[in-house]
Amino acid sequence: MDTLLRTHNKLELLHPLHGSVEKHYFLSSSKVSNQEFRIGSKKFQQKWWLVVDLAVVGGGPAGLAVAQRVSEAGLSVCSIDPSPKMIWPNNYGVWVDEFEAMDLLDCLDTTWSGAVVYTDDKSKKYLDRPYGRVNRKQLKSKMLHKCVSNGVKFHQAKVIKVIHEESKSLLICNDGITIQATLVLDATGFSRCLVQYDKPYNPGYQVAYGIMAEVEEHPFDLDKMLFMDWRDTHLNGKPELKMKNSKIPTFLYAMPFSSTKIFLEETSLVARPGLSMEDIQERMVARLRHLGIKVKSIEEDERCVIPMGGPLPVLPQRVIGIGGTAGMVHPSTGYMVARTLAAAPVIANSIVQYLGSERGLLGNDLSAAVWKDLWPIERRRQREFFCFGMDILLKLDLQGTRRFFNAFFDLEPHYWHGFLSSRLFLPELFFFGLSLFSHASNASRIEIMAKGTVPLVNMVNNLIRDGD
Ligand SMILES: Cc1cc2nc3c(=O)[nH]c(=O)nc-3n(C[C@H](O)[C@H](O)[C@H](O)COP(=O)(O)OP(=O)(O)OC[C@H]3O[C@@H](n4cnc5c(N)ncnc54)[C@H](O)[C@@H]3O)c2cc1C
Repeated sequence: MDTLLRTHNKLELLHPLHGSVEKHYFLSSSKVSNQEFRIGSKKFQQKWWLVVDLAVVGGGPAGLAVAQRVSEAGLSVCSIDPSPKMIWPNNYGVWVDEFEAMDLLDCLDTTWSGAVVYTDDKSKKYLDRPYGRVNRKQLKSKMLHKCVSNGVKFHQAKVIKVIHEESKSLLICNDGITIQATLVLDATGFSRCLVQYDKPYNPGYQVAYGIMAEVEEHPFDLDKMLFMDWRDTHLNGKPELKMKNSKIPTFLYAMPFSSTKIFLEETSLVARPGLSMEDIQERMVARLRHLGIKVKSIEEDERCVIPMGGPLPVLPQRVIGIGGTAGMVHPSTGYMVARTLAAAPVIANSIVQYLGSERGLLGNDLSAAVWKDLWPIERRRQREFFCFGMDILLKLDLQGTRRFFNAFFDLEPHYWHGFLSSRLFLPELFFFGLSLFSHASNASRIEIMAKGTVPLVNMVNNLIRDGD
């Protein structure tokens, strides 16, 4: 894995071995040296003690986006991650308008003028909406530069424990360093390091296997990305695989970069339990063979397991969460990057406003105020609707899924764009639902009524239960 080391040799790491700690951020080391504590059977030595306004645990897109904004406002911030200089491992795709709205077009390395969806052999839809691949190196580099110039301290470690006191929290790292923060933000993705859940965690799972490959040739247009290919003729000679695929279908997602370079990902949109990676790889091999795609070499591969839907974390709670750890993945699609980057300024403003001199909230009051801005009632209702969408998708077999997406991509762009990009809120989401129903075939309507009634009742109950 390439790293950002060369571009960020000035990135200041808060580790005694690097000799780059700024003393005024520390309490006297003699006060804390030689203190030992135990977690389980492990013994730790406390060496240093850093005091900041905000400690951000996790340096993925979510964590860095908030660290950058809060430090910009003059608050002291520490970002803690075991690999702060590493390029993020995931290959992110977004709709171009989402990044344009955040002035991040310079962080897309390739764009396609539109996308293609095959629902079956006879139906090919063109989506007139540009799509882009995120330039992870550029996006992270840009965020790191801003963090560094705003004085964010980076600590290369894993957080193993948090201890809350009335107006501050102590983060214990696996190297013995303690970070004292007025507010802690958990941005550890799906490892959900600190944020607490009190309901059984029962998400659906998007599982995918992707390769960035050099191929002899491929059949796809270079100016369109392949958003979904639900065709299954590649499984014709494989009755067992075909049967499995007709129950829990997978589709191909592809980003063609040139006639010989392409990112190919076989994806299970959502299943509970998630499909096995081996199953997905087997389907992918059959599909590529059928499409005549001969892989010459693989530059990188990704094994994607994304929890979707499930309960929100306890609201409010002392540790704030953002990104994967805080239920922000779109429950019906698995997308999250654009939504989280758009939410980061909201959370950062909230932190600055409540923690800064204006309001000066502390402890549980501070956290409760920030959580309220992170998951306001409109967003919770929107998520409930998206979970309803996921519950229906979970019940659809290949034929049902095809009928669903035939109707979905025939909707007015305002509706399908808004649904995929989390821009529709209640009551507009109900009109979206009605419009989807009216575009659906008769078979699909009967199916949605039969399979959607229980999820619909659940959603309505949850909406009623969740007052502000
Ligand atoms: C393979 C894959 C592909 C995806 N593709 C897309 C896509 O195309 N489009 C999209 O919108 N979404 C996509 N997603 C979903 C989602 O956007 C990503 O998972 C995204 O990376 C989540 O961002 P995050 O900042 O919340 O967490 P992460 O990116 O997972 O970052 C979490 C960070 O926390 C650190 N960490 C973990 N535990 C600790 C600890 N105890 N102490 C300190 N640090 C810790 C980790 O090292 C990591 O750096 C994808 C997800 C996966 C897994």
